[in-house]
Amino acid sequence: MALTGVEIFKLLPKTNCKKCGFPTCLAFAMQLAARKVSLDACPDVSDAAKATLGEASAPPVRPITLGTGTKAVKLGEETVLFRHEKKFVNPCVFAIGIKDTYDDVTVDKKIDECLTSEIERVGQKLKVDAIAIINDSGDKAKFEALAKKVASKAGDVPAIICTGNTDAAAVALAQFKDKKALLYGATMANVTEMAGIAKGNGAALGVAASNLDELQDLTEKAKGAGIEDIVMDSGAKKAKDILEHNTLLRRAAIKKGNKSVGFPTINFMMRDDNLLETLMVGLGIAKYSSIVVLSSAEKWKNLVTFTLRQNIYTDPQVPMQVAQNIYEIGAPAPNSPLIVTTNFSLTYFIVAGEVENSKVPTWLAVMDCEGLSVLTAWAAGKFTAGKIAAFIKESGVEDKISNKELIIPGYVAILSGALEEKLEGWKITVGPREANAIPTYLKSKTA
Ligand code: SF4
Repeated sequence: MALTGVEIFKLLPKTNCKKCGFPTCLAFAMQLAARKVSLDACPDVSDAAKATLGEASAPPVRPITLGTGTKAVKLGEETVLFRHEKKFVNPCVFAIGIKDTYDDVTVDKKIDECLTSEIERVGQKLKVDAIAIINDSGDKAKFEALAKKVASKAGDVPAIICTGNTDAAAVALAQFKDKKALLYGATMANVTEMAGIAKGNGAALGVAASNLDELQDLTEKAKGAGIEDIVMDSGAKKAKDILEHNTLLRRAAIKKGNKSVGFPTINFMMRDDNLLETLMVGLGIAKYSSIVVLSSAEKWKNLVTFTLRQNIYTDPQVPMQVAQNIYEIGAPAPNSPLIVTTNFSLTYFIVAGEVENSKVPTWLAVMDCEGLSVLTAWAAGKFTAGKIAAFIKESGVEDKISNKELIIPGYVAILSGALEEKLEGWKITVGPREANAIPTYLKSKTA
């Protein structure tokens, strides 16, 4: 069970030295109990206390890394049930499922879908993260051949070896030895042998139960066999059961401190109906799947699921923002237009994207409004005439341009008069309300 703030306080040095950044040891203890800080922040804690507190402050869902190098992904490490309490930590991993019953063309297509899936959205790179190699045939030789092919074409992508056949597991996993793969398919019948194969190859172990009770027994058996990195499949297949099981597991780990289920989860969402599969993936993203296995990664599907995953795994208490700056879009000249907007990431990337679409080189003045969008920043008093004028004067943009004309967002047209008073010698022009009107606006302005 997690320790309370007072219990933690009793184990701290109680010198109130403030090295941790908090005024007292008690304040630090309260933050540690709420899992908002790391024990490392206190340099003076004793080794004995560290052993006790380290266990108490460990995240209730064990962190696990799959893969090595730049494509490695982290799972688990979650500490809350709801993202408004504190952000979800490690985004749900997308793994494309490739069965050993597929023909060569299909296998190549799926590997390619994974390798070319990366897109950039709001400044973040989003992609399909892993490949699940599935022993659908039950044949060891076919499975080994598929594992070899994936290892040769996408050996740096984290691999999930899916089979309940221990012979097939051994030969396939050997292709990913010491690459922190996941061996999935340990059951009550084979868990000891599967644990040995996973350990011998430096892999995590995925346990496949048929119900929640069996799942706890399985994880305990895997732990007894010396496995620390475990990924859980409760056996849920239907949407209702996945929702129920994943919620019960997360709740038991976080609220009850149940260490038997304090591990990341995996759900197989592969469906014949692509729309249904996309909905299932959405369910997994929103409700605690650490890994979802997909049948395909077409671009339209990726756009939906990547966007949802990105939204769920951002910190709701910290708006995404870009740095305040004068951005140059398309090598602007001194007489190019100058647009001002706020530094909310979504605002910046949409406005910058539309300016690029216009093919009109433009100066984009992005003002720090604590990551708020234009209207919100204006309503909060952060995007006012006085503040915009001060930003423009301090930015140094006047030295780069020959036309002192500032284009403001149409939504804050009301600021134009006051801005003209505060920015002496400047012409204030009201631009479009919506970003999608920017290309037409800029083209007509420079025609
Ligand atoms: S650094 Fe450690 S000893 Fe110092 S105030 Fe923080 S918790 Fe207390």
